[in-house]
Amino acid sequence: MAVIAFIGLGQMGQPMSLNLLKGGHRLQVFDVSQAAVNGLVEAGASGCATPADAARGAEFVITMLPNGELVEQVLLGENGVTATLAHDALVIDMSTIHPLHTDKLIAAMATLGFSMMDVPVGRTSDQAVTGSLLLLAGGTPAQIERARPLLMLMGNELVAAGGPGMGIRVKIVNNYMSIALNALSAE
Ligand code: NAD
Repeated sequence: MAVIAFIGLGQMGQPMSLNLLKGGHRLQVFDVSQAAVNGLVEAGASGCATPADAARGAEFVITMLPNGELVEQVLLGENGVTATLAHDALVIDMSTIHPLHTDKLIAAMATLGFSMMDVPVGRTSDQAVTGSLLLLAGGTPAQIERARPLLMLMGNELVAAGGPGMGIRVKIVNNYMSIALNALSAE
């Protein structure tokens, strides 16, 4: 059982964090929406007032947010994750953000002595509910193996995409291919 900080409890993050709870992990959750936090607290998570509170004592931090600016704010901003996070924890950004922003954040976190990987997901919120997301893991082999047991509670197919920052690149190629095939099928 791990202590996991989960930040961003929207359409995707809410069912993903519920699946981690069902898997027996302890969750410390934060979202700017108090209603979203309350929903997880009812299911057994601990609600937190800031990302820093959520990260205190956590072995893993998962972010599932709408854009890179928000991921940066949550990790490195005021009352952010890095204010309290232990240096042996692993940060996993599962948001879909610009790859260059991913690179910048991974580098900034490494400079501060934190380990970070990117695991964006394929498929939709229906598969987030059933724990059958496609997991595109960008990380060192050691990071991927450490995260695998948690990731496999949220998804059912994990692609080791390469080193940190490669998950988001494979995700964008995956999106491009899906759209191109849809356009072709429509023709
Ligand atoms: P969403 O808008 O439903 O949820 C985002 C959550 O982040 C909201 O609950 C919001 O309150 C919260 N939030 C915003 N700013 C915050 C902050 N500063 N601190 C803490 N919480 C904050 O979005 P979503 O559909 O869950 O998507 C999340 C990510 O997953 C995005 O990067 C999206 O591209 C990606 N994604 C979505 C889908 C999908 O089908 N919805 C599929 C694959 C990937």
